[in-house]
Order: sequence, then structure tokens, then C-alpha cells
Amino acid sequence: MTALLQADDVHVAYGRIEAVRGVSLSLQAGQIVTVIGPNGAGKTTLLAALMGLLPARGRIAYDGADLAGLDVEARVERGLCLVPERRELFTEMSVADNLVLGAYAHRRDRAGLRARLDEVYGLFPRLAERRGQSAGTLSGGERQMLALGRALMGRPRLLLLDEPSLGLAPLIVREIFRIITGLRATGVSILLVEQNARAALESADYGYVLETGQIGLHGPAGALLGDPRLSALYLGGE
Ligand code: ATP
Repeated sequence: MTALLQADDVHVAYGRIEAVRGVSLSLQAGQIVTVIGPNGAGKTTLLAALMGLLPARGRIAYDGADLAGLDVEARVERGLCLVPERRELFTEMSVADNLVLGAYAHRRDRAGLRARLDEVYGLFPRLAERRGQSAGTLSGGERQMLALGRALMGRPRLLLLDEPSLGLAPLIVREIFRIITGLRATGVSILLVEQNARAALESADYGYVLETGQIGLHGPAGALLGDPRLSALYLGGE
């Protein structure tokens, strides 16, 4: 089966410093694949390269076709969508207007937009309750929900999520991961970058450990959760 996303020997450099050094990974349609690793491992850099925000060496194929030469807009059109760590929202605008902006590319299809908005409110009842509230007054967890909801308005096939649990309380982290696994059930594939290794592996099908720009361990998420080498490093020991 052709992978939805296949990266082979990807290198990304900032000037003379290589932040991503020969990363290969693959994601099948319908999967949640996680890339876990400590601060500065190169996770955000890798996502930026996949999205076309940074130039990369190596091969990145999506849906069987090489992405080389395609800019960010062309990648978005093909169904890739990045939800960055900082969850940039339009803080003065309402929840509803932030969501509508997420569907900018589909703005002429008003009926489709309405239906999509209803779907997103169905996934995030909390956003439906707060649809008129300005985004800047939302809690951290609600902002993350809005960032996810806005991404979904564009009907992505592959979501690239950069540390969705960052800065959130444990209870909210659980809720966000529950939502993420729910998204997989709607047919969206997810590449999930996380420092919270346990929560990410508990939600994912497959995991890669990124350390100083290179993949170390990788395997089915359940196997990684039980791997003593990983538990010593990232899972708080057991
Ligand atoms: P974090 O979890 O802290 O965001 P990360 O795994 O996402 O870490 P990156 O942000 O991708 O890591 O950073 C990887 C390396 O690249 C780090 O050494 C970082 O200092 C460096 N780096 C990141 N952005 C730049 C930049 N714009 N210019 C130069 N070096 C950078």
C-alpha cells in the first residue's frame, strides 16, 4: 500500500547548522503517527519542511507524488494543514469568525461552509457554546480546540500538529488527545509532534523518537510504550 506521507532521508538546515539530519518516516492513510522527542530535537523544523515552509533536501512524497517544488499554498490545496505550536488565532475576532477564516479556500461554497461549521461545532461543543466570544478570551484548552477546529474547516486530509498539549493542564491534555483520536475516526490522518511522549503514544498507531535531528527508536506505539529504553528517557521511568 502506498503511504499517504513518505519522507526519505530528509535534511533541513538553518545556514550551516543541520537541525534535521536524514529523517525517514512514513504514515498510512487513516493513521496517527507521532514524532516524540525533547526540546530542540528538530520536531518543529521537520513539520515546517513537510509543509513547505522551509527548504529541505531528500524526498517527501504525499499521496504517491513528490512534493518538491510545491509551495505551501499548493500543499494546502492537496490537503496538508499545519496547526502550529503557538495556535495563532485572531484574538479580537469571534470564535465563529476564526472558524470561517479556516475555510477561506472554500468561501464561495456557502452551503458547504455552513455544513462544515456545524460538523466542527459537533466535534467541539465547547466552541459552539462560545461561538460569539472573542478568541483572545478563551482558555488555553479552548484555544487549542479553536486552532484544531479552524484547521478542520479547510477539510484537510493530513493534519500536522505541533505540540497540541503544550502548556495545558493534565485534564485538558486528556480531552485534547481524546479529540485527536476522534478525528482519526472521521478519516483525517495525523502527524503528531509531541514532547508529552506517553499521551502521544497512547493515542498513536506508530511512533518515531527524534533526537538531535535523527530518528532513533521507532515502532508501533504500543511497543514503544513498553520499551524500557524509552521509559527510562521519556516516560518518567518504570
Ligand atoms: P521544541 O520542542 O523546543 O519546539 P523542536 O524539537 O521542535 O523543539 P526545533 O524547534 O525544530 O526543535 O529546533 C531544532 C534545532 O534547530 C534547535 O537546535 C534550534 O535551536 C534550531 N533552530 C530552530 N529554528 C531556528 C532558526 N530559525 N534559526 C536557527 N536555528 C534554529
